[in-house]
Amino acid sequence: MKQLPAPFISRIHEQLGDEAEAFLNTYDEEPERGLRINDLKISPTDEQSSALIRQFGLTPVPWCKSGFYYDPSTRPGKHPFHAAGLYYIQEPSAMSAVELLDPQPGELILDLAAAPGGKTTQIAGKMKGEGLLIANEIHPGRAKILSGNVERCGITNAIVTNAAPGELLSRFPAAFDRVLLDAPCSGEGMFRKEPEAINEWSPEQVLHCAVRQAEILQQAAHMVKPGGILAYSTCTFAPAENEA
Ligand code: SAM
Repeated sequence: MKQLPAPFISRIHEQLGDEAEAFLNTYDEEPERGLRINDLKISPTDEQSSALIRQFGLTPVPWCKSGFYYDPSTRPGKHPFHAAGLYYIQEPSAMSAVELLDPQPGELILDLAAAPGGKTTQIAGKMKGEGLLIANEIHPGRAKILSGNVERCGITNAIVTNAAPGELLSRFPAAFDRVLLDAPCSGEGMFRKEPEAINEWSPEQVLHCAVRQAEILQQAAHMVKPGGILAYSTCTFAPAENEA
Protein backbone atom coordinates (compact mmCIF):
# COMPACT_ATOMS: atom_id res chain seq x y z
CA MET A 1 0.00 0.00 0.00
CA LYS A 2 1.14 3.60 -0.70
CA GLN A 3 2.63 5.20 2.43
CA LEU A 4 -0.38 7.19 3.60
CA PRO A 5 0.06 9.45 6.67
CA ALA A 6 -1.00 7.73 9.94
CA PRO A 7 -3.29 10.61 11.07
CA PHE A 8 -5.03 10.47 7.67
CA ILE A 9 -5.59 6.72 8.01
CA SER A 10 -7.01 7.04 11.51
CA ARG A 11 -9.35 9.87 10.47
CA ILE A 12 -10.61 7.78 7.53
CA HIS A 13 -11.36 4.94 9.99
CA GLU A 14 -13.38 7.41 12.10
CA GLN A 15 -15.22 8.68 9.01
CA LEU A 16 -15.93 5.35 7.29
CA GLY A 17 -15.93 2.68 9.98
CA ASP A 18 -16.28 -0.78 8.35
CA GLU A 19 -15.80 0.66 4.87
CA ALA A 20 -12.42 2.27 5.66
CA GLU A 21 -10.27 -0.69 4.54
CA ALA A 22 -12.02 -0.99 1.20
CA PHE A 23 -11.57 2.75 0.68
CA LEU A 24 -7.88 2.71 1.65
CA ASN A 25 -7.22 -0.24 -0.69
CA THR A 26 -8.33 1.89 -3.65
CA TYR A 27 -5.10 3.89 -3.27
CA ASP A 28 -3.26 0.90 -4.74
CA GLU A 29 -5.44 0.80 -7.84
CA GLU A 30 -4.66 2.69 -11.04
CA PRO A 31 -6.16 6.20 -11.16
CA GLU A 32 -9.13 6.66 -13.49
CA ARG A 33 -8.36 8.85 -16.50
CA GLY A 34 -10.97 11.07 -18.10
CA LEU A 35 -11.57 13.66 -20.76
CA ARG A 36 -14.47 15.93 -21.57
CA ILE A 37 -15.51 16.58 -25.17
CA ASN A 38 -15.55 20.35 -25.78
CA ASP A 39 -19.17 21.00 -26.80
CA LEU A 40 -18.10 24.38 -28.22
CA LYS A 41 -16.14 22.59 -30.95
CA ILE A 42 -17.83 19.18 -31.38
CA SER A 43 -20.91 17.53 -29.95
CA PRO A 44 -20.60 14.27 -27.96
CA THR A 45 -23.13 12.72 -30.38
CA ASP A 46 -21.69 13.72 -33.79
CA GLU A 47 -19.44 11.72 -36.15
CA GLN A 48 -16.18 13.40 -35.04
CA SER A 49 -16.90 12.34 -31.46
CA SER A 50 -17.60 8.77 -32.60
CA ALA A 51 -14.11 8.77 -34.17
CA LEU A 52 -12.62 9.96 -30.85
CA ILE A 53 -14.59 7.30 -28.98
CA ARG A 54 -13.01 4.60 -31.16
CA GLN A 55 -9.52 6.12 -31.18
CA PHE A 56 -9.19 6.60 -27.40
CA GLY A 57 -11.36 3.69 -26.20
CA LEU A 58 -13.83 6.11 -24.56
CA THR A 59 -16.58 4.96 -22.21
CA PRO A 60 -19.19 7.38 -20.78
CA VAL A 61 -18.97 9.03 -17.36
CA PRO A 62 -22.48 8.51 -15.93
CA TRP A 63 -22.79 11.95 -14.32
CA CYS A 64 -21.50 14.10 -17.20
CA LYS A 65 -22.90 13.89 -20.74
CA SER A 66 -19.70 15.13 -22.39
CA GLY A 67 -17.38 13.17 -20.05
CA PHE A 68 -15.59 9.89 -20.87
CA TYR A 69 -13.06 7.53 -19.31
CA TYR A 70 -10.18 6.86 -21.70
CA ASP A 71 -7.70 4.06 -22.15
CA PRO A 72 -4.41 5.54 -20.76
CA SER A 73 -2.29 3.72 -23.38
CA THR A 74 -3.89 5.93 -26.12
CA ARG A 75 -2.46 9.15 -24.55
CA PRO A 76 -5.05 11.69 -25.80
CA GLY A 77 -3.18 14.53 -24.06
CA LYS A 78 -0.38 14.18 -26.65
CA HIS A 79 -2.66 14.21 -29.70
CA PRO A 80 -3.04 17.30 -32.00
CA PHE A 81 -6.80 17.11 -31.31
CA HIS A 82 -5.92 18.11 -27.73
CA ALA A 83 -3.94 21.14 -28.93
CA ALA A 84 -6.94 21.99 -31.15
CA GLY A 85 -9.20 22.07 -28.09
CA LEU A 86 -11.53 19.23 -29.11
CA TYR A 87 -11.44 17.94 -25.51
CA TYR A 88 -10.10 18.74 -22.07
CA ILE A 89 -8.32 16.13 -19.93
CA GLN A 90 -10.22 16.05 -16.60
CA GLU A 91 -10.72 13.58 -13.76
CA PRO A 92 -14.23 12.10 -14.00
CA SER A 93 -14.92 12.98 -10.34
CA ALA A 94 -13.97 16.62 -11.00
CA MET A 95 -16.72 16.80 -13.64
CA SER A 96 -19.44 16.58 -10.98
CA ALA A 97 -19.13 20.12 -9.54
CA VAL A 98 -20.19 21.96 -12.71
CA GLU A 99 -22.98 19.44 -13.36
CA LEU A 100 -24.40 20.47 -9.97
CA LEU A 101 -23.76 24.18 -10.56
CA ASP A 102 -25.90 23.74 -13.73
CA PRO A 103 -24.85 26.90 -15.64
CA GLN A 104 -27.32 28.26 -18.20
CA PRO A 105 -26.77 30.21 -21.44
CA GLY A 106 -27.14 33.97 -20.94
CA GLU A 107 -26.17 34.04 -17.27
CA LEU A 108 -23.44 36.02 -15.52
CA ILE A 109 -21.21 33.40 -13.86
CA LEU A 110 -18.05 33.56 -11.72
CA ASP A 111 -15.49 30.77 -11.42
CA LEU A 112 -13.55 32.18 -8.46
CA ALA A 113 -10.56 29.78 -8.25
CA ALA A 114 -10.34 28.76 -11.87
CA ALA A 115 -6.83 27.67 -12.95
CA PRO A 116 -5.91 25.59 -14.83
CA GLY A 117 -9.46 25.76 -16.22
CA GLY A 118 -11.11 22.33 -16.11
CA LYS A 119 -14.30 23.69 -14.62
CA THR A 120 -14.14 27.01 -16.50
CA THR A 121 -14.10 25.19 -19.83
CA GLN A 122 -16.95 22.94 -18.68
CA ILE A 123 -19.05 25.95 -17.57
CA ALA A 124 -18.36 27.67 -20.91
CA GLY A 125 -19.55 24.59 -22.79
CA LYS A 126 -22.87 24.77 -20.97
CA MET A 127 -23.23 28.52 -21.59
CA LYS A 128 -22.99 27.95 -25.39
CA GLY A 129 -21.31 31.33 -25.95
CA GLU A 130 -24.22 33.28 -24.39
CA GLY A 131 -23.82 35.40 -21.25
CA LEU A 132 -20.53 36.21 -19.53
CA LEU A 133 -18.14 34.05 -17.55
CA ILE A 134 -15.53 35.63 -15.27
CA ALA A 135 -12.73 33.09 -14.71
CA ASN A 136 -10.53 34.27 -11.86
CA GLU A 137 -7.19 32.98 -10.60
CA ILE A 138 -5.17 34.57 -7.81
CA HIS A 139 -1.71 33.36 -8.93
CA PRO A 140 -0.39 35.20 -12.03
CA GLY A 141 1.47 32.21 -13.52
CA ARG A 142 -1.59 29.99 -13.18
CA ALA A 143 -3.83 32.75 -14.61
CA LYS A 144 -1.71 32.60 -17.81
CA ILE A 145 -2.24 28.84 -18.05
CA LEU A 146 -5.96 29.43 -17.53
CA SER A 147 -5.98 31.99 -20.38
CA GLY A 148 -4.21 29.48 -22.62
CA ASN A 149 -6.86 26.85 -21.94
CA VAL A 150 -9.70 29.34 -22.47
CA GLU A 151 -8.21 30.21 -25.88
CA ARG A 152 -7.46 26.59 -26.83
CA CYS A 153 -11.08 25.67 -26.15
CA GLY A 154 -12.40 28.55 -28.30
CA ILE A 155 -14.30 30.30 -25.51
CA THR A 156 -15.36 33.80 -26.60
CA ASN A 157 -17.60 34.93 -23.72
CA ALA A 158 -15.10 34.69 -20.86
CA ILE A 159 -12.84 37.23 -19.18
CA VAL A 160 -9.83 35.93 -17.24
CA THR A 161 -9.02 37.99 -14.16
CA ASN A 162 -6.08 37.75 -11.76
CA ALA A 163 -7.36 39.01 -8.43
CA ALA A 164 -7.78 38.06 -4.78
CA PRO A 165 -11.40 37.16 -3.94
CA GLY A 166 -11.71 40.28 -1.72
CA GLU A 167 -10.71 42.55 -4.60
CA LEU A 168 -13.32 40.95 -6.87
CA LEU A 169 -15.97 41.33 -4.18
CA SER A 170 -15.33 45.09 -4.02
CA ARG A 171 -16.19 45.25 -7.77
CA PHE A 172 -18.96 42.63 -7.99
CA PRO A 173 -21.14 42.64 -4.84
CA ALA A 174 -24.32 40.51 -5.29
CA ALA A 175 -23.65 40.41 -9.04
CA PHE A 176 -23.63 36.80 -10.28
CA ASP A 177 -26.38 34.32 -11.17
CA ARG A 178 -24.00 31.47 -10.25
CA VAL A 179 -20.65 31.27 -8.49
CA LEU A 180 -18.34 28.28 -8.37
CA LEU A 181 -15.74 28.10 -5.60
CA ASP A 182 -13.48 25.14 -6.35
CA ALA A 183 -11.39 25.89 -3.30
CA PRO A 184 -7.66 25.43 -2.72
CA CYS A 185 -7.54 22.40 -0.39
CA SER A 186 -5.36 19.75 1.25
CA GLY A 187 -5.71 17.52 -1.83
CA GLU A 188 -6.44 14.13 -0.24
CA GLY A 189 -8.25 13.18 -3.46
CA MET A 190 -4.95 13.60 -5.33
CA PHE A 191 -2.96 11.03 -3.30
CA ARG A 192 -3.51 8.27 -5.87
CA LYS A 193 -2.80 10.31 -8.99
CA GLU A 194 0.00 12.51 -7.59
CA PRO A 195 1.83 10.76 -4.73
CA GLU A 196 3.81 13.96 -3.98
CA ALA A 197 0.54 15.36 -2.59
CA ILE A 198 1.00 12.87 0.26
CA ASN A 199 4.22 14.61 1.36
CA GLU A 200 2.56 18.02 1.39
CA TRP A 201 -0.31 16.83 3.61
CA SER A 202 -0.46 17.28 7.40
CA PRO A 203 -3.27 17.75 9.95
CA GLU A 204 -2.04 21.34 10.39
CA GLN A 205 -2.34 21.95 6.66
CA VAL A 206 -5.94 20.67 6.72
CA LEU A 207 -6.76 23.26 9.40
CA HIS A 208 -4.90 26.00 7.56
CA CYS A 209 -6.90 25.20 4.40
CA ALA A 210 -10.18 25.15 6.34
CA VAL A 211 -9.57 28.66 7.72
CA ARG A 212 -8.68 29.99 4.27
CA GLN A 213 -11.69 28.28 2.67
CA ALA A 214 -14.10 29.77 5.24
CA GLU A 215 -12.84 33.24 4.37
CA ILE A 216 -13.03 32.73 0.57
CA LEU A 217 -16.46 31.08 0.88
CA GLN A 218 -17.85 34.17 2.66
CA GLN A 219 -16.47 36.38 -0.11
CA ALA A 220 -17.87 34.06 -2.77
CA ALA A 221 -21.32 34.09 -1.10
CA HIS A 222 -21.42 37.90 -1.12
CA MET A 223 -20.91 37.90 -4.88
CA VAL A 224 -24.05 35.81 -5.55
CA LYS A 225 -27.22 37.69 -6.55
CA PRO A 226 -30.25 37.21 -4.29
CA GLY A 227 -31.76 33.90 -5.44
CA GLY A 228 -28.55 32.86 -7.21
CA ILE A 229 -26.60 29.62 -6.81
CA LEU A 230 -23.26 29.02 -5.08
CA ALA A 231 -21.44 25.71 -5.58
CA TYR A 232 -18.50 24.80 -3.36
CA SER A 233 -16.14 21.93 -4.16
CA THR A 234 -12.79 20.54 -3.03
CA CYS A 235 -10.70 17.52 -3.97
CA THR A 236 -10.26 16.42 -0.38
CA PHE A 237 -12.14 14.18 2.08
CA ALA A 238 -11.51 16.21 5.27
CA PRO A 239 -14.79 17.13 7.01
CA ALA A 240 -13.13 20.34 8.31
CA GLU A 241 -12.76 21.47 4.70
CA ASN A 242 -16.09 20.17 3.43
CA GLU A 243 -19.12 19.67 5.68
CA ALA A 244 -17.83 22.10 8.34
N1 SAM B 1 -11.06 25.00 -10.69
C1 SAM B 1 -9.78 24.57 -11.20
C2 SAM B 1 -10.00 23.55 -12.30
O1 SAM B 1 -11.07 22.92 -12.35
O2 SAM B 1 -9.12 23.40 -13.16
C3 SAM B 1 -8.88 24.04 -10.08
C4 SAM B 1 -8.71 25.03 -8.96
S1 SAM B 1 -7.60 24.53 -7.70
C5 SAM B 1 -8.48 23.31 -6.87
C6 SAM B 1 -7.71 25.89 -6.58
C7 SAM B 1 -7.14 27.19 -7.10
O3 SAM B 1 -7.25 28.17 -6.03
C8 SAM B 1 -5.67 27.14 -7.47
O4 SAM B 1 -5.51 27.52 -8.82
C9 SAM B 1 -5.00 28.15 -6.53
O5 SAM B 1 -3.98 28.91 -7.15
C10 SAM B 1 -6.15 29.05 -6.12
N2 SAM B 1 -5.95 29.74 -4.83
C11 SAM B 1 -4.95 29.56 -3.93
N3 SAM B 1 -5.09 30.39 -2.88
C12 SAM B 1 -6.20 31.11 -3.11
C13 SAM B 1 -6.86 32.14 -2.40
N4 SAM B 1 -6.43 32.59 -1.22
N5 SAM B 1 -7.97 32.67 -2.95
C14 SAM B 1 -8.44 32.23 -4.14
N6 SAM B 1 -7.85 31.24 -4.85
C15 SAM B 1 -6.75 30.70 -4.35
